[in-house]
Parts: sequence; C-alpha cells; structure tokens
Amino acid sequence: MKSSTASHKQPSGGAIIASGRHLELPEHLKAYRGVWVFLEHDHGHVHSVSWELVGEARKLADSLQCEVAVAVFGGPDEPLEQFAAEAFSFGADKAYVVHDQVLLGYRNEPFTKGLTDLVNKYRPEILLLGATSMGRDLAGSVATTLSTGLTADCTGLNIDPTSRALAATRPTFGGSLLCTIMTLAYRPQMATVRPRMMAMPQPKRNRCGEIVQEALEMIEADIVTKLLDFIADTNSNQINLPYADVIVSGGKGLRNQENFRLLFDLARVLGAEVGATRPCVQAGWVDADRQVGQTGKTVRPKLYIAAGISGAVQHRVGMESSDLIVAINTDPNAPIFDYAHYGIVGDALQLLPALTQALNDHLAQQPYRP
Ligand SMILES: Cc1cc2nc3c(=O)[nH]c(=O)nc-3n(C[C@H](O)[C@H](O)[C@H](O)COP(=O)(O)OP(=O)(O)OC[C@H]3O[C@@H](n4cnc5c(N)ncnc54)[C@H](O)[C@@H]3O)c2cc1C
Repeated sequence: MKSSTASHKQPSGGAIIASGRHLELPEHLKAYRGVWVFLEHDHGHVHSVSWELVGEARKLADSLQCEVAVAVFGGPDEPLEQFAAEAFSFGADKAYVVHDQVLLGYRNEPFTKGLTDLVNKYRPEILLLGATSMGRDLAGSVATTLSTGLTADCTGLNIDPTSRALAATRPTFGGSLLCTIMTLAYRPQMATVRPRMMAMPQPKRNRCGEIVQEALEMIEADIVTKLLDFIADTNSNQINLPYADVIVSGGKGLRNQENFRLLFDLARVLGAEVGATRPCVQAGWVDADRQVGQTGKTVRPKLYIAAGISGAVQHRVGMESSDLIVAINTDPNAPIFDYAHYGIVGDALQLLPALTQALNDHLAQQPYRP
C-alpha cells in the first residue's frame, strides 16, 4: 500500500509529506493528467456504479481543470462503443476502448495488463473503480503492478487544494472514525467506491466525446486462467438492496425472527425490499445480503423505513443518503431520530401491521386498472 495520510511521513518515494506543508510531486509524475473511470459491464449492461463514478469524476476533473476518460474492455463483438457513448452523456470526454477475444468475460490477468498498459501510456492522475467483486480484484492487482496507492471502499472523494491530490475518505477503526487518505508521491491515485455511495448523474443526451481504440498485447497462451463456462449463482445477488427505491429495514427492536415477517408483509404492499441491521443478520433472522451499513450494503432509496433500529454510526453510513428516512422507535432519545426526516415514537410491533393494513385498505379502494 503506497498511500499515506497527509499527517504522516511516507517512508520512501521522493515526496515531502507533512500536514500543512507544501507538497512537491516528483518531476516525472507531474505529467499525469486526467480522471479515469474503469467501466464495468456484464451481459450487455454497464454496472450503475460506473456511471456514479463518471459523475463523480466529472466533479473532480472540473476542479482540477482536466478531462474525464473511461476505459472499457470486452470481446470483439461487445458493444463497447455504445457504452462509451453512454459514458459521454454522463460526463466523460474520452473513452479508451479495447476489443480482444481474451477480454471476453473478466479474468484478472488480461484486464490487469490492459489497464496498466493504458495507464502507462496515457498517465491519468486519478483512476476510479467500483468496489464490486470485479473492481476490488482488478484495482488491487493494477495498483500493485503500477506500484501506486489504492484507497478501498471510499465514502467521499475530494481534491486537496494545496497538493492537488485526491483526498479519499473512508471509515476506519471499525467505523468509529473517518480517515482521509492521499497518495502523495505516486501516480495514478487509485480508489474504489461502493455502489450507491455517489449519486447517479443526470445524462445529457447531446454530449459527445472521443473514442480511442487500443490493442491488447496479449494472447490466450499467455494467460494461466481459462474461462470454461459461466454458471450464474442463483443464490447470490437475488436481493437488489442497493438499487431498491423503497426499503423497510428492521433492527433488534423487532426482538425475533418471527417478527421480521411484519417487515416482509409491509414490503410486499409497498413493492419494497427488506433490509436489516448487523445484529439481526448475526442472529440469523435474515440473509447477510440484507444487511445495511458499513459492513453491509450502501443504499439510497427514495424511502427508508427504519423499525426498531437505534441508528448506530455503522448503520447510518449505509443509509443516510436516502431521500426520506422514517424511523419508528420506542426510545425518543434513539440516535436515529437525529437524522430521520420523520420520527414516530412507538412500538414497531404494533405500528408495522397497522401500516400494512391501512395500505391494503387504501389499495382495495382504488379502481381496478388492468
Ligand atoms: C466493525 C463494525 C461494523 C459494523 N457494521 C454494521 C453494519 O454494517 N450495519 C449495522 O447495522 N450495524 C453494524 N455494526 C453494529 C452497530 O454498531 C450496531 O450495534 C447496530 O447497528 C445496532 O443494531 P440495532 O439498531 O438493530 O440494535 P440496537 O442498537 O440494540 O437497537 C435496537 C433499537 O430498537 C428500539 N426498540 C426496542 N423495542 C422496540 C419496539 N418494540 N419498537 C420500536 N423500537 C424498539 C430500541 O429503543 C433501540 O433503539 C457494526 C459494528 C462494528 C463494530
């Protein structure tokens, strides 16, 4: 790991690092310019986190007064130029596109080679990837190959005005502190960001950009890993919590697994997903995929109903960007009331079924629309 916080001396690398002092980047690294996003796609669709990052990259690039570029890899017939056009609409200026048979389906070796070669040739200042399974795997190997710093699972990205460095913020010490990490003596500065941490940008359909086609200098015989088949894991990712519009979430205040049924009943009427706090997952009341928070999923629904949840910081970091938070808690001093938009002091075990019943009654009175 080549990153260091600005308040610590970095062991080697040539830059002078100390809080409050001006930082001088080594001469050979000053040529690095531009903010890049690696576009992740699967089965013909770009992962939404890539668009969230293009939106964020646009803001960083505007303050650095440089370009936003995306890198996108795939097989000979994959619609990478279409993905590039979409990237332009979200704020990118340029797209580096690499078509090659060995890039059909993700494998670490060819993707690492493709991305490190592009970085060495075009020298971006900042490189962002989604903190997905693929993004985490690729970011680690690219950072290691390039001998640069990587800040994983960031919750905020900014530019430090003194050093022009990427100030990447992430939780630390079990979520009790937020630390800001800067890679001061190496380039590019790399970061991964979890899905839904950044807002989805609004596309501008008339925006255009430049597509640069590149070739991969690698053949199948160079690659140890072979992709024989793709077998979807039907048990995983069935719960699409990060992209749900409405989430009803429960905590220990619901007391037992049986009472979680009240949440599922309400979710069915609302067309919502069910979320939970970590202790409920640890107690085995719900699947781990439903955990919201620092060690669970980050969510940004239009409506988040929190029932029997105290609102600890580790839960808060995963849901505080929700448009509307409604909290139900028996304790008027529960921390969740500090950041909920609407608070109901009351017993969730009584309120949840009453809410479900009221919504059912309301729907029953609506005229039938086929
Ligand atoms: C490293 C680390 C990572 C963590 N990651 C996460 C994470 O990702 N997600 C997460 O959620 N937590 C996480 N935690 C745990 C977190 O610190 C809290 O312990 C947890 O969020 C609390 O869960 P809770 O609100 O369900 O339970 P509690 O804190 O026990 O709160 C229960 C609440 O229910 C209320 N209540 C009781 N009865 C009722 C009732 N009948 N009706 C309405 N309200 C009622 C109580 O007043 C109380 O406020 C993490 C902790 C650590 C150390």
